[in-house]
Amino acid sequence: MQDCLFCKIINREIPAKIAYEDEELLAFHDIDPQAPTHLLIIPKRHITTLNDLNEEDAALVGRLQITAARLAKEMGFAEDGYRVVMNCNEHGGQTVWHIHMHLLAGRALTWPPG
Ligand code: 5GP
Ligand code: ZN
Repeated sequence: MQDCLFCKIINREIPAKIAYEDEELLAFHDIDPQAPTHLLIIPKRHITTLNDLNEEDAALVGRLQITAARLAKEMGFAEDGYRVVMNCNEHGGQTVWHIHMHLLAGRALTWPPG
């Protein structure tokens, strides 16, 4: 998608600190981290919001979660714990219109969210 910020990161039109990449997914560090480690894990295929997912996307979304868990483990956060979040639309706090999974780690996070 031409005007999508995260598609531009995928296409290397905008720089990002990349943590992991494969054929389907990209993980990079959030520009405004809310925890000592804050990664965004995204599908390379443009999907605007969680509302646009359908059954055919089940494996892709599963890979987002499994990749988040693997990265957390590799970075040493598995035991202490971490959080994954996906925000949808205005009430969910979504600000970038390409689905992404936040991986927040490195401090004790509070609950409930604001
Ligand atoms: P949302 O609010 O949509 O759930 O999350 C969007 C995230 O993208 C925010 O945490 C924000 O800091 C991050 N972000 C926005 N612009 C950029 C950018 O240009 N580069 C990177 N690496 N992260 C960005
Ligand atoms: Zn996009």
